[in-house]
Amino acid sequence: MLQPQHITEFFINTFVKKGDVCIDATAGNGNDTLKLAKAVGDDGMVFAFDIQEIAIENTKALLLENNIKNTELILDSHSEMDKYINQKVKAVVFNLGYLPGGDHNLQTKWETTTIAIEKALELISGDGFIAIMIYYGKNSGTVEKDALMEFLKNLNHKNYTVTTHDFYNRPNNPPLTAIITKN
Ligand code: SAM
Repeated sequence: MLQPQHITEFFINTFVKKGDVCIDATAGNGNDTLKLAKAVGDDGMVFAFDIQEIAIENTKALLLENNIKNTELILDSHSEMDKYINQKVKAVVFNLGYLPGGDHNLQTKWETTTIAIEKALELISGDGFIAIMIYYGKNSGTVEKDALMEFLKNLNHKNYTVTTHDFYNRPNNPPLTAIITKN
């Protein structure tokens, strides 16, 4: 059965090539960092951000288990990504919401998420993309989703294409995935 994460995986598997540089904007338990690291291979590089030490530790453990070395884990907000990365990247992946099993108060917030997306737009290469998995329906997730959808709608259509992928007939607010590419 098609699952929400398959949308981002499709874009990673289709567009990310060996040797690319990518960013995981929300490392969490490291699942997306691992997917990106495998896609870029030993010659590529993945930068992964999270504001929680436990998320960085969980990601580090998952990467170690999988013998992955081509990553840099950064304990900071994704809204600061331009301070750490000064090269073009193929993909920036956001998986919004809170750390599964973690503190729900430390979930992503639209104010910093939109700053991070603006910075990611500057960092992606001409053939790059941004994937944003938007969880909503709990705590302030709906606030973040509504603000982000408004932000994405207003991105200049001459410069960017935004598509959204919704599991339209599935109950319980399944996450929405937005993909941004450059024109
Ligand atoms: N991609 C992760 C995975 O594969 O396991 C799941 C990510 S989880 C849904 C969201 C993560 O975003 C949490 O670990 C949370 O700490 C992190 N987060 C919240 N605000 C952030 C920010 N401003 N910058 C970076 N990470 C943030």
